[in-house]
Amino acid sequence: MDVLVIGGGITGAGVALDATTRGYAVGLVERSDFGSGTSSRSTKLVHGGLRYLPQWQFGLVREAAIERDRLRRLAPHLVTPLPFLVPLYSGMRRPLGVKIPSPLLSLTGPIIRTGLWLYDLLASADLRHTRVAPEVLLAEIPGIRTDGLSAAYRYHDAQTDDVRLTYAVLWAARKAGTLLLNYAEVIAIDPGPPAAVTVRDRLGGGEVHIRARHVVNAAGIWAEAVARLGGDVPFRIQHSKGVHLILELPLQAISALVIPETDDGRLAFLVPWRDRWILGTTDESHDAALHSPTTTAAEARYLLDHLNRYLHVPVGPDAIVGAYAGLRSLVRRGDARPADLSRSHEVIEHRNAMVSIIGGKLTTYRKMAEDTVDALVRRDGRQIACRTSTLPLDPEADADRITAAARQAGLDAEQALHLLASYGSGTLRICQILGEDPLLRRRLVPDLPVIAAEAVYACREEQAVSLADWMLIRSRLAALDRRRGEGCADDVAAIMGGELGWTKTEIAMQLQAFRRAVAAEMAFADELRSSPVYWSSGSIDPPSTIR
Ligand SMILES: Cc1cc2nc3c(=O)[nH]c(=O)nc-3n(C[C@H](O)[C@H](O)[C@H](O)COP(=O)(O)OP(=O)(O)OC[C@H]3O[C@@H](n4cnc5c(N)ncnc54)[C@H](O)[C@@H]3O)c2cc1C
Repeated sequence: MDVLVIGGGITGAGVALDATTRGYAVGLVERSDFGSGTSSRSTKLVHGGLRYLPQWQFGLVREAAIERDRLRRLAPHLVTPLPFLVPLYSGMRRPLGVKIPSPLLSLTGPIIRTGLWLYDLLASADLRHTRVAPEVLLAEIPGIRTDGLSAAYRYHDAQTDDVRLTYAVLWAARKAGTLLLNYAEVIAIDPGPPAAVTVRDRLGGGEVHIRARHVVNAAGIWAEAVARLGGDVPFRIQHSKGVHLILELPLQAISALVIPETDDGRLAFLVPWRDRWILGTTDESHDAALHSPTTTAAEARYLLDHLNRYLHVPVGPDAIVGAYAGLRSLVRRGDARPADLSRSHEVIEHRNAMVSIIGGKLTTYRKMAEDTVDALVRRDGRQIACRTSTLPLDPEADADRITAAARQAGLDAEQALHLLASYGSGTLRICQILGEDPLLRRRLVPDLPVIAAEAVYACREEQAVSLADWMLIRSRLAALDRRRGEGCADDVAAIMGGELGWTKTEIAMQLQAFRRAVAAEMAFADELRSSPVYWSSGSIDPPSTIR
């Protein structure tokens, strides 16, 4: 094999696609399920990154904005535009993370306006930011505070489904010739070159040995550990934790809301996503275990507190339907706080057959992959140009054809759009599955468009092997459904069991593992409900007193 990619998140997926389309024979191994690491735990924004401007990271903003616009062209069903509302209040000291010295406080408006103008410019935005009247702000976010409001703006970025984006890239790579293996963990590397890599099959229990001329370490937060297997660790990673709450709110999903100031000098977002709202995120150093991070009551309270500072009617814990926590891998630089560390990426060439790609963002995965494969090409003394900058991720994903096929298969408009946005041309295969068994058209949760046929599709076409993976990572039902997927777990287990030949005992074990995972993810909720917080008092600080 020419290239073995370690890690089946968005970074590894991007590298596999790039290397395969440049003619390399590529294999990708993923220890758990594809996309189950940080790539399922982002805010799901495809953005230039307004908050990097105060850190003077103009290069990163520019690069990310170019990639954002490119992804909108290459995967329009998956990456869609999203407007953001930014309310500003008098007395703010660090709006949007910009530290404004006291003598300049009266100039806050012009300073922020300059930042937004710069953002438009760096992002070559087709839609420029505009000033928004308080009535418009109120119409979109009823209940938002307008007392003390000094100005409000709307700017434009994009959003995606991080897991579906990862799968789209992985399956584009597979179509081009990449061999994909999940539940395949690299446990030893004889670094070569060429490298001899030992991979453990976590389902079957066996081991395979793979010889590869190049090994790409795209293991995200585990990149240091993987580098150690090869005996050369020329970088250090700092881990930072970010949590999100998924809320059910009585709001029309038109724009995202920027929470313009946090106590730790950042900004946060309230983003409409799949009939719910994502509230996030935090950014704190994390030195504990890397596997399956979970939300704490303190982190959930922090997020609700910050949102409630801007609302007349506070949002309480009952609005939380789900939560997820993720870890960033940031390139360590001295003692800098995680929030101040750059989100740019680094390609690191080891003294052996390994190349590591660390840091970066979901948004910039394609450029990260291009830079990584450029390093392989250079090492080989060859010249092969990158092909992904103009390569549509799913050329067959014609929106009209797909939604028409879904409607013809008996699905309603909401379901058709959901399938298009999630599976692109894979929707046509789902329609075939519906042809075999029309009962699979049933919704798994009454107020969500997810249908039973998606579980069949995941088993037949996308190597799904676990109920917990499908419920928590792939469909997100456990996080989007008020009942955390409990109402449909037996149904899905039976469907997947039928596809994968599970015995009754295996189905019971799958259900148990799913319930354990949900309980761990939502363990914070009871503690949150039992503690006195903002929303029980009914009165909150006016924005002018926020630091
Ligand atoms: C809270 C938060 C919010 C974010 N929001 C955004 C956002 O809105 N927009 C944006 O652009 N970016 C965002 N990011 C950043 C983005 O999510 C990450 O940059 C990206 O998902 C990292 O992908 P990855 O493939 O490098 O890592 P991962 O997705 O973690 O993939 C690495 C994979 O390697 C596998 N692996 C590890 N060891 C081995 C081994 N020994 N053998 C085989 N496989 C192995 C793991 O199982 C894992 O699946 C956010 C990050 C966080 C934490």
